[in-house]
Amino acid sequence: MGISAVCLHTGNFAAIQLVPVKEIIASIITIGDELLIGQTIDTNSAFIAQQLNSIGIRVAKRVAVGDQETAIREALDNESTYADVILLTGGLGPTADDITKPLLCDYFGGKLRRDPATLKHIEWLFNEVYKRPGALLPRNQKQADIPDNCTILHNPRGTAPGMLFQKENRIYISMPGVPQEMKEIMTDSVIPFLQQNLKTPFIFHRTLLTAGIGESMLAEQLVNFEATLQPELKLAYLPQYGMVKLRITATGQDQLVLKQAIDSKFEELKKLVATHLVTDKDEKLEAVIGRLLSEKKATLSTAESCTGGLIASMLTSLPGSSNYFKGSIVAYANEAKENLLMVDYSTISTHGAVSEQTVQAMATGALKQLNTTYGIAVSGIMGPDGGTALKPVGTVWIAVANKSTTKVQCLKLGFDRQRNTHQTAISALNMLRQFILTESQD
Ligand code: AMP
Ligand code: MG
Repeated sequence: MGISAVCLHTGNFAAIQLVPVKEIIASIITIGDELLIGQTIDTNSAFIAQQLNSIGIRVAKRVAVGDQETAIREALDNESTYADVILLTGGLGPTADDITKPLLCDYFGGKLRRDPATLKHIEWLFNEVYKRPGALLPRNQKQADIPDNCTILHNPRGTAPGMLFQKENRIYISMPGVPQEMKEIMTDSVIPFLQQNLKTPFIFHRTLLTAGIGESMLAEQLVNFEATLQPELKLAYLPQYGMVKLRITATGQDQLVLKQAIDSKFEELKKLVATHLVTDKDEKLEAVIGRLLSEKKATLSTAESCTGGLIASMLTSLPGSSNYFKGSIVAYANEAKENLLMVDYSTISTHGAVSEQTVQAMATGALKQLNTTYGIAVSGIMGPDGGTALKPVGTVWIAVANKSTTKVQCLKLGFDRQRNTHQTAISALNMLRQFILTESQD
């Protein structure tokens, strides 16, 4: 049950009264043996769910079944007990293992009839796009046999069109499994149809990113906040390496009131997490760094040992990063630290490669070698081997520096190699963010 909100003016305050509205619920059935044996990852459901969510339709369940008649029928029966919209993908190919189309035809009591427009499109695809010589095979012609009780959803990229059935106030939409084909049918036909034919509620999201605090601790801080959230607002915790995204979602029928409600709660949330707030937009930490550097017309270089270039890769994943990121020296071996970053042999031999003194020297080396405003350096033991009693696996030193100051931090991580590496990269970028912000305050 969704909620719509109306604004009641009581004195100077706009109170929000909630009026229940009918929520539209969807279910996604993905069909294909390949999904059940783990050969294909079900990316279709994720895309469909995102699309439906963006127009205010809630996906209540995702079901995966094999190319098997009883399983598909059972899924259709089950999902029809509660869902308003049921979307299916898969099983529409020209081969014997794909059985969805005749099954749906029978399930909804129709007859297969050759559709001339679909046949023409298939001929065009084989002649002009696939350029397959010879006549159309009967199995390809059969792709144009469509249940006479469905609406055809044109598939510009492939031979199997989408099909839309309606029964007892429910909408059933079947699409091919091929992700590119499904996506085009979704955006070109399905979403516009649903928007025109269903009274979908408004849906707004506001997202912020925190770093340096775990989700449980955050949840402790937000107990009262959550308790006072109106029913049409939902708070979601989305933990990532070393960071937690918080998203408030508002769903309802009154666009203006809903916007006011979400904005006001979002401001409250921002204040509550202020000390850990990285950004109040739905963006990555790298983007925040990019913005900070661009605003200052500053440049950055990295000296990476244990992250092997990951920090540079994260930074350069963003377009426009060449404006502020000059480069990285991936200095994995001690020899590379000495030769490429000018770290003294005696620093490494006295304190070790994973030490405060070495990362300090690495950061200074990167600043000099790449002539940048800021430098980041990391050196650590990612595991599973290489730890000692004094420096166990997960020991990481990070330095961030400008030409006059260097700050260092030691992490003691306890994850596997991959996560230790990611966590290090995130911590280093967050440390730089704090460094730049503190410097601006000085
Ligand atoms: P089909 O329509 O069953 O012939 O599916 C064609 C191809 O689409 C399959 O071979 C899979 O590689 C891919 N596919 C099918 N279902 C999915 C899904 N749920 N997510 C991603 N890819 C899929
Ligand atoms: Mg299949």
